[in-house]
Amino acid sequence: SLSDRITQALSSLRGKGRLSDADIAASIGEIRRALLDADVALPVVRDFTATVRERAEQAELSKVLNPAQQIVKIVHEELTRILGGHTRDLRFAKRGPTVYLLAGLQGAGKTTLAGKLGKWLREQGHTPLLVAADLQRPNAVQQLQIVGDGAGVAVWAPEPGNGVGNPVEVARTGVQHARDAFYDVVVVDTAGRLGVDAEMMQQAADIRDAVDPQEILFVIDAMIGQDAVTTANAFAEGVGFTGVVLSKLDGDARGGAALSVASITGVPVMFASTGEKVGDFERFHADRMASRILDMGDVMTLIEQAERAFDEEQAAEMAAKIAGDGDFTLEDFLVQMQQMRQLGSMKKMLGMLPGMGQIREQLENFDEREVDRVEAIVRSMTPEERRTPKIINGSRRSRIARGSGVTVTEVNGLLDRFEQAKTMMRSMARGGGAPGVPGGFG
Ligand code: GDP
Ligand code: MG
Repeated sequence: SLSDRITQALSSLRGKGRLSDADIAASIGEIRRALLDADVALPVVRDFTATVRERAEQAELSKVLNPAQQIVKIVHEELTRILGGHTRDLRFAKRGPTVYLLAGLQGAGKTTLAGKLGKWLREQGHTPLLVAADLQRPNAVQQLQIVGDGAGVAVWAPEPGNGVGNPVEVARTGVQHARDAFYDVVVVDTAGRLGVDAEMMQQAADIRDAVDPQEILFVIDAMIGQDAVTTANAFAEGVGFTGVVLSKLDGDARGGAALSVASITGVPVMFASTGEKVGDFERFHADRMASRILDMGDVMTLIEQAERAFDEEQAAEMAAKIAGDGDFTLEDFLVQMQQMRQLGSMKKMLGMLPGMGQIREQLENFDEREVDRVEAIVRSMTPEERRTPKIINGSRRSRIARGSGVTVTEVNGLLDRFEQAKTMMRSMARGGGAPGVPGGFG
């Protein structure tokens, strides 16, 4: 499988103290072949390997990770980036109803998704309506009705006078009905063919024009293979889409199609369908998919262990310091921040501290440049100032601001946050909970 192959390619680097460019090239060559064999599209593979090679060659020596681990980390980060990075939220109309249009080949999983999405939206406090605009496939309307029943969501099906035989009319009257009956979200199921087909595409485009959707979700079977790119391009051109939904991720699909579609179209994967039941549905998280491709089982685990060991060592040192004479200095504060950045995994580190669960969310918005700013400011202080921040008076503050290229307000802000962090570290050392993030983010 793709993940086995990548794992293997990277494990041959293990145990090497330093990596030559040739070592890097050999591993990346292996990864390249593995991706191609897993049906990831050629331009995507080319782009991906070029970026990884460049970053690997430029990577600074890490204290925590050995060179092989560093490359795995880079591969993981690049996979995550290609898959769309942070998960985007669904868009809602300012004035309802919000319309989501589902598009994709027959058998991709659109009708099943309509039910899953409906249930999910209902759980989020919405009142969704499913609209059966697939009049192509025999029993498609009935299938949606069954799916809607299972999800506890209302279904708009064509009846005499409501556009029987005309999917555009069914969609249009469905949205009108939602408006009249106060449904706030409309999910429009559409027809698909086994292959890309001009007539079907035109029908989907006509429905789109009639209902003006906030999102067009392109549903694609994760096991589709090399056809993923042709299909995605055809839908991108024929109907356009704003989000991708990967279905059948419960199979042994390893993400080849996902990588191709997200990367080629630049549209993020938003949801994953992972089974036939109405609850087999989740937000798609690029980093988790990247882990799945890399198979956390082996190499990723090693990396985590290395990072954790480092965390624990430093945390213990820090705790001893605070428990001892209570001398938590600006230098320690800086070390703490640098450590967080170096590990690139604030979440993990904080996850290990008690009481940190609720602030994980805020960390999603963590700004790395903040660390640079803090670093610049602390670097502009004299060693004495770093150890004894109390002496930093007004004129010292303006000198530090000038030296680090920030405003005095920013220097003040840093000193305030340092004081907060210090208080927090003390209370943690006494065994209390953690009232805030070390370093004062969020
Ligand atoms: P549509 O033609 O795009 O509407 O596709 P359907 O929703 O009718 O799904 C086609 C088949 O795939 C059905 O048998 C579904 O039960 C099945 N299916 C849909 N999504 C998933 C999924 O995430 N996992 C699995 N295993 N089967 C799925
Ligand atoms: Mg269907």
